[in-house]
Amino acid sequence: MPAVSPAARDKAKTLLLRALGPSKVKTDPDDCAVYSRDESEAEGMVPDAVVLAEAAEDVLLALAVAREAGVPITPRAGGTGRTGGAVPVGGGIVLSLLGMNAIKEIDRREQIAVVGPGTVLSELHAAVEREGLFYPPDPNSSVGCALGGNVAENSGGPRGFKYGVTGDYVLGMEAFLIGGQRLSVGRRTRKGTTGYDLTSLLVGSEGTLAVFGDLTLRLLPKPEGLMTLMALFEDERGAARAVEEITGRGLIPRCIEFFDATTLQAVRDAKNPIDERARAMLMIEVDGDEAACEVASLGVADACEASGASEVLVAQEPAQREKLWAARKEMSPAVRKLAKHKLSEDVVVPRQQQGELLTRVRAVGERLGVRTLAYGHAGDGNFHVNFLWDDPDEVPRVDAAIEALFRDVIALGGTLTGEHGIGVLKAPYLPLEQASELIGVQRAIKGVFDPQGLLNPGKIFPARGHRDC
Ligand SMILES: Cc1cc2nc3c(=O)[nH]c(=O)nc-3n(C[C@H](O)[C@H](O)[C@H](O)COP(=O)(O)OP(=O)(O)OC[C@H]3O[C@@H](n4cnc5c(N)ncnc54)[C@H](O)[C@@H]3O)c2cc1C
Repeated sequence: MPAVSPAARDKAKTLLLRALGPSKVKTDPDDCAVYSRDESEAEGMVPDAVVLAEAAEDVLLALAVAREAGVPITPRAGGTGRTGGAVPVGGGIVLSLLGMNAIKEIDRREQIAVVGPGTVLSELHAAVEREGLFYPPDPNSSVGCALGGNVAENSGGPRGFKYGVTGDYVLGMEAFLIGGQRLSVGRRTRKGTTGYDLTSLLVGSEGTLAVFGDLTLRLLPKPEGLMTLMALFEDERGAARAVEEITGRGLIPRCIEFFDATTLQAVRDAKNPIDERARAMLMIEVDGDEAACEVASLGVADACEASGASEVLVAQEPAQREKLWAARKEMSPAVRKLAKHKLSEDVVVPRQQQGELLTRVRAVGERLGVRTLAYGHAGDGNFHVNFLWDDPDEVPRVDAAIEALFRDVIALGGTLTGEHGIGVLKAPYLPLEQASELIGVQRAIKGVFDPQGLLNPGKIFPARGHRDC
């Protein structure tokens, strides 16, 4: 973390106010406080200034001021991140990009869209679907998150099982560097191998290498039809077996979402009538033309029954589908109510290890006396393992449970994060998964883009190695 003097902070405020004026620059601590947090447990400092960028020139100017004054600058889109990526851990400038929210182009023939980084994801979904097109990435935060944040986190979502993640749809972007340099990265064509693939490097860089301006995105034709299935199981291993059975039969639903017993109970408590005997649930969705949906849904239902499902419901009509999805939509707020504090770790394991992972999560919770629950994108082996607590005294046990989870995940051949990124919260654990040489190469890349370490400091890289590494 670069050391920042009070004089440097004052200089940054003065330069920003002079160049952009008070309508685009907030310096009142009460106005700035809301930018010190995101949707995670990460705690930041109240930033010295918040820039509400409306155009590329505002971004370039803020990046030039940050370097001239020597203060940190943290890009921010919707602030829905789960690992503290947009949290200004050293104060300085927060650069809000939500004002750059124009959908500039939807080209039906080329099947591409060009959007500002502040475009809210659900608005892009609606706009392209009106044109008969489809943008698949669908984090469950789609009404609050924005495309710049999605690209910076390489976000996924339920549809990732069939359609992949955000990075699979990014063709190119405007990239603004610390100091105020502008690069045009990538392309508009569907293929292209000119030079190093900097687009892929910037996707998932968590705001630490460059700030994104306009994003060029690949689109698909909108699938004709959809069918949703809900399968109930008496235990989690049955649900895990069903996921293996579905994929083993070569079926590719667009999503396979898993809920464990505690999550299901929270959803029931939110007034969703789900059979009390069920201890695990899968929500599965297939898409394509009518005949393809019919065949796929029959195959999925059969695979679930063969794996011990106690009940399988199939919904085709939009109203029926909405009813089934209500349970998924209610889940996050319902789970949020279970405790004062909640940390969600989005680990991934090979699909064949998911039953084992769930068993180990339960064992860790019981051993350490920590409440846990798990749900998530089971088709991808990507689980959101949640740790819940009310009392600060519980925190050391929660920390021990998180570390035990990460060790289990690595031992099972998995990875620390499938879609939420490393941010602040997972940075201390990076050395559990990656060798110091690999972390060193990434630090060197960071140094090329940001030699003074001013762009979103405190993210990804641990301040020091994990104590056991
Ligand atoms: C209820 C809920 C459900 C969620 N479900 C999912 C899910 O299903 N799948 C999933 O993947 N995630 C999910 N998330 C996490 C989160 O929504 C995603 O990580 C999302 O992509 C963050 O977007 P944002 O606009 O809120 O970004 P922010 O939180 O504002 O920022 C995230 C990161 O992006 C950087 N950044 C933002 N804009 C730019 C830019 N223009 N240039 C460079 N860097 C930038 C920030 O510095 C930060 O590091 C969920 C979150 C919530 C609260």
